[in-house]
Amino acid sequence: MSGKERLPVTGAQGDLLRLVATGQAESRAELARLSGLAASSVSLRVEELLDAGLLIEEGSGTSRGGRRPRKLGLSPSAGVLAVADLGAHHVRLGLLDLSGNPLTIQEREADITAGPEAVLDWLADAFDDLLESHAPEGVRLRGVGTGIPGPVDPATGRVVGPSRMPGWNNFPVAEHLGARYDLPVLVENDANLMAVGEARSWPGADNLMVLKAGTGIGCGVIVHGRLHRGRGAAGDISHVRVRTDSSTVCACGHRDCLEAYASGAALQAALAEAGILVERPADIVGLVNDAVPEATSLVRTAGRLIGEVLTVLVNFFNPDVIAVGGSLSAAEPLLASIRAAVYERCLPLATRELEIAPARAGQDVALLGAGSLLLDAVL
Ligand SMILES: [Zn+2]
Repeated sequence: MSGKERLPVTGAQGDLLRLVATGQAESRAELARLSGLAASSVSLRVEELLDAGLLIEEGSGTSRGGRRPRKLGLSPSAGVLAVADLGAHHVRLGLLDLSGNPLTIQEREADITAGPEAVLDWLADAFDDLLESHAPEGVRLRGVGTGIPGPVDPATGRVVGPSRMPGWNNFPVAEHLGARYDLPVLVENDANLMAVGEARSWPGADNLMVLKAGTGIGCGVIVHGRLHRGRGAAGDISHVRVRTDSSTVCACGHRDCLEAYASGAALQAALAEAGILVERPADIVGLVNDAVPEATSLVRTAGRLIGEVLTVLVNFFNPDVIAVGGSLSAAEPLLASIRAAVYERCLPLATRELEIAPARAGQDVALLGAGSLLLDAVL
């Protein structure tokens, strides 16, 4: 994440703006309580933010029983964020306001194997398109963020050791985008973005594992309500070794990685061997729904292998929720097999309150996660 031109706010102003933008506070009294600042200090800074056109105040006037407190909100003209989630075959991209509300979201075809420069320059052009057609006039772009379907070093914004992304290894994604935008740039693993977006749909759950079962397998970890990045690869379960009857060499060079058996790409390859060709992992869900036995059996095995890896993690981490998303997650046997493995093998204390459920946040989840993380960078 770069330290480029931020919103024109100083530390405490930024904190207050963030509390309003995230919906935690809508009055001066709430701001004082949550920020720990004195009421007079909050009032002064709120006036400055109102004058700067970053906050607005609505609902003024009186109501029965006295003066109705005026409601603070983020000004629609405070700025927009341009966010994307790069997949193997397509990209979702859009503009959000600083509260994370989508102004527009689109899906376009993209081929990540075209290499980083071509894909990122194409993405930046697509952002420019959206800004021209969908950003309200005079409203400035405040930050740019993208999800990457591979490991990202949070310190450098570089992709490190991705699968199925030729030319991307060690490519400085954040630097490349930063050369085009003199703004904060967020580059994050796609499962991490998904975890941040998904966590907002589970109020009351502090510790979550959010699994992305798509072309690859990813997992994002939320600890005490915050994304746990570790050194950058936290939650990356794709190259954990699994027990199988056969032996397969993974793209990473090791034998019997989870990804080599249970990823959408692996299922696609196994189906092709059986003479069943599908274009993308999402098509496998259709085969399962049509009760094609090869597809159902492969998805069931994938769920069992993923579930066996998760048993270790559930015993170790004791999450409140495992949310399963990604293009394969709509295949019912996948979730059923994951559940069966985890409930069979984990400690009762770990599973008694554990919820293993389909992800709730919908198809824009990663973009919402990007908006949420980017807001921290912008303020
Ligand atoms: Zn591997």
